[in-house]
Amino acid sequence: MIVVLKKDISKADLQKLQEKLRAYGCHFQIHENGEPILRIQNRQHLLSKDFFLSQPGVQDAFRITPAYELASRKTGKEQPAILAGNIRIDPDHFTVIAGPCAVESEEQITGIAQRLSQTGIRFLRGGAFKPRTSPYAFQGLGVEGLQLLRKAADASGMKVVTEAVSSSDVPVVSEYADILQIGTRNMQNFRLLKTAGKQIKPVLLKRGMNATVEEFLLAAEYILQEGNHQVILCERGIRTFETATRNTLDISAVPVIKQISHLPIFVDPSHASGKRSLILPLSRAALAAGADGLLIEVHHQAETAKSDGPQSIDFSAFDELMAALKTIAPAVSKRIL
Ligand code: PEP
Ligand code: MN
Repeated sequence: MIVVLKKDISKADLQKLQEKLRAYGCHFQIHENGEPILRIQNRQHLLSKDFFLSQPGVQDAFRITPAYELASRKTGKEQPAILAGNIRIDPDHFTVIAGPCAVESEEQITGIAQRLSQTGIRFLRGGAFKPRTSPYAFQGLGVEGLQLLRKAADASGMKVVTEAVSSSDVPVVSEYADILQIGTRNMQNFRLLKTAGKQIKPVLLKRGMNATVEEFLLAAEYILQEGNHQVILCERGIRTFETATRNTLDISAVPVIKQISHLPIFVDPSHASGKRSLILPLSRAALAAGADGLLIEVHHQAETAKSDGPQSIDFSAFDELMAALKTIAPAVSKRIL
């Protein structure tokens, strides 16, 4: 942050401003040639432009680093290792999270977990609290769904990724899950973000369907600011004029985010496309573009699925997908996890 001071700023005002900055833990320097300028080097996220403009003796203020300071590569140079139970998600790996859209029954989730774990998949997804567009659609099994998911994952030696749709769900979801998911509709539910930031499990944050990359990183900032640095970003498609797909997968968001943030970025081709025939090419594109992993919907009987059947792939399509990923991974120096 650059703060331009008035030429005639009084010594007392300058001293007060410096004291305030020190109280926030900011490091700064004053440059005197020409207009006096204050250059602040750290903790800029704590202070807004308006704060400076309201201080006596201040003429103007400009951000020279992004507002998402903690999510920025300038602050966190290395991608954080994310620990889900005893499994690390790190830059050397391409991590595949797979499972049904929703937990529907014990038989369904146990069968899917068993089959996926035989393919080497370590992360099981499944919604217990479902954020549905229609109030008449299946809303999920709630806590019972979490219990079934945990049981199925444990029986197959897998880790659980599941969504919390409100801040009051966070304690129970974080009790059963290894990674807490925040969905597209809640990307700017700031209370939920803060509550997720206060618990210790990693958080998979999906991009809001109408959010810019900057808004996405600012949402991550809410979690980071609470002290939880285990944040995984997930591009899941955005709303555009195009109707051929459910959303438009913004594949450019992957390299864009890699350039400006150190946080891992996953891709969800299922919600991005809404069509099972597109999951394979979009997954290949995600890996080739530098993504750190995938979140994919897999169902043993998609035609009877209680949610998102048309975008869910069956086990043989999933096997084909994994084989394709294994041929691409060495080209981008990743190992499939
Ligand atoms: C999901 O992953 O089950 C989900 C609801 O996704 P999104 O929030 O991206 O729509
Ligand atoms: Mn879904």
